Amino acid sequence: MSRQYNFSSGPAALPEAVLQQAQAELLEWNGARASVMEISHRGKEFIALAEEAERDLRELLAVPSNYKVLFLQGGATQHFAQIPLNFAQRGQRADYVLTGDWSEKAAKEAKPYVDVRIAASSAATHYDRIPPRAEWDLDPSAAYVHVTPNETIRGVEFHDIPDVGGVPLIGDVSSTILSRPLDVSKYGLLYAGAQKNIGPSGLVVVIVRDDLLERCPKDIPKILNYAEHAAQGSMLNTPNTWGWYLAGLVFKWVKAQGGVAAMAERNRAKAEWLYDYIDGSGYYKNPVERSARSWMNVPFTLPREELDAPFLKEAEKAGLLALKGHRTVGGMRASIYNAMPLEGVQALVDFMKDFARRNG
Ligand SMILES: *Cc1c(COP(=O)(O)O)cnc(C)c1O
Repeated sequence: MSRQYNFSSGPAALPEAVLQQAQAELLEWNGARASVMEISHRGKEFIALAEEAERDLRELLAVPSNYKVLFLQGGATQHFAQIPLNFAQRGQRADYVLTGDWSEKAAKEAKPYVDVRIAASSAATHYDRIPPRAEWDLDPSAAYVHVTPNETIRGVEFHDIPDVGGVPLIGDVSSTILSRPLDVSKYGLLYAGAQKNIGPSGLVVVIVRDDLLERCPKDIPKILNYAEHAAQGSMLNTPNTWGWYLAGLVFKWVKAQGGVAAMAERNRAKAEWLYDYIDGSGYYKNPVERSARSWMNVPFTLPREELDAPFLKEAEKAGLLALKGHRTVGGMRASIYNAMPLEGVQALVDFMKDFARRNG
């Protein structure tokens, strides 16, 4: 049995060095005479771990001091609803930019709590692009503007986050965080489910500007209140300690790779390798406008649908796992997050060439 190149969209591959370290210290962590999963989150050992993970993430993303970093739960999906619940007053409007399935879901989940306005959408062209900023119809009195900087399903990414004026910008960065430098100061709040580029599922990282926390209403459950979580250092209740620990190891790993600028260089090279081959192949196709193509998720189709099943079967045999596209769009999708090395992408392209030659 050996680990193979895993193109899963999420939960996704983790760096092997991180898994090895976790394995080595699973039974007994850091002199605690117990597993990191078996000790109190309020003990000084775990608090030290938690603080170090936060420091490393702050350093990696150059998070300004007027932002809190929270380690929460509920998946990104819970935060779709939690965001309007905390930051919009009854009857207030919020602007949503729709660029794919995840931003659609975020808008839908927000509806019970805020008057959702669609400020821009590329739905008419099947989410194959980012609507140009000049076409966004923003409401200056909106509670916030919500964007999804990388759409994991269709592989559409903002390569430049537009300015939205004085209204706080909120970004679901689940599938792009740590893949490239990110200007936190452009946002009021960022959130990311961990299972793409941070660690295991069940952990959500939230980065939120202090002034927004003043909006959190007192009459919602504490467990849904960002200001309460911030006041309690993300330990209002028992946090996902295992996830927090693994996230800390991943942050150290990203630092050891040279940080997010170095990750960006690699991720750009990986994505170019794959897109260049797809475009030149005359066989595979990616439908996304070039300027909006994701560095993290690369969907592609084969010339005929009946080739999908043999492609997947042979890819698995060749040690290339989880290439099936999302059920709503079909085709293939290669998710090439930080933990995927260039060699994995090269192995995929070699396989694709061979498959195309044999099934032309
Ligand atoms: C995976 C993903 C989600 C959903 O995350 P859950 O943790 O399953 O709730 C939301 N947004 C984006 C952009 C994603 O990639």
